[in-house]
Amino acid sequence: MRKPIIAGNWKMNNTIASGSALIKELIPLVKDAQCEVAICVPFTLLPAAAELVKGTNIKLGAENVHFADKGAFTGEISAEMLKEIGVEYVIIGHSERRQYFAETDETVNKRAEQALKNGLKPIICVGETLEERETGKTEEVLERQILGAFQNLTAFDMPANIVVAYEPVWAIGTGRTATKEQANETIAFIRKTLVEKVCAKCGADIRIQYGGSMNAKNASELMSMPEIDGGLIGGASLKAEDFSKVVNY
Ligand code: PEP
Repeated sequence: MRKPIIAGNWKMNNTIASGSALIKELIPLVKDAQCEVAICVPFTLLPAAAELVKGTNIKLGAENVHFADKGAFTGEISAEMLKEIGVEYVIIGHSERRQYFAETDETVNKRAEQALKNGLKPIICVGETLEERETGKTEEVLERQILGAFQNLTAFDMPANIVVAYEPVWAIGTGRTATKEQANETIAFIRKTLVEKVCAKCGADIRIQYGGSMNAKNASELMSMPEIDGGLIGGASLKAEDFSKVVNY
């Protein structure tokens, strides 16, 4: 059984003050959630967030991690630094990082390997652009991203420790959601790729989220699909009430 996981991706939003207020409001609203709940917050908020979620059912995530242990990488954050704060999850390869910060399948793979080596659980994001979908390249793109991201990762007890987020780029922050059939079908393809080309057992057990304008209104419909094991939630994770409605789908 794959336990669903709903994770918020706060992106570059919230100061320590506003983020702490949001977490305090969220805690009672999600305390009876049937799924796993996580919030991935900006680096500056992690220490305060770690204190606030202690003893609750909310898991803490970061939005990126560097692939080296330490050293001359100005502006980067290491896995050890995140572990020290109590971070459990880390988003890797979000399409915004691929689009604006030159993230590649190779760096996604290196970051995932580094996260796992240090006991962090990567949420590996994959997804096609609108042009790729419209020109029939969705499966080719997703297979390339999955095989790239998972290279040499089989040694790391995958199913429990890795989450994949299928996030069609055209649905992120656009208010345009994939239909539940589209999301289910594409996630089934990702799982088939994992089972056939990465690791049969791991692929069947690994959790694959949908992300892309998932919100209080469409969450239950999307979550009713057998292949969708949760959501990565951007905009709707910035209001406690909205996010809690997604979590309590
Ligand atoms: C995301 O950034 O991962 C995301 C899914 O954003 P939104 O929910 O706003 O589309």
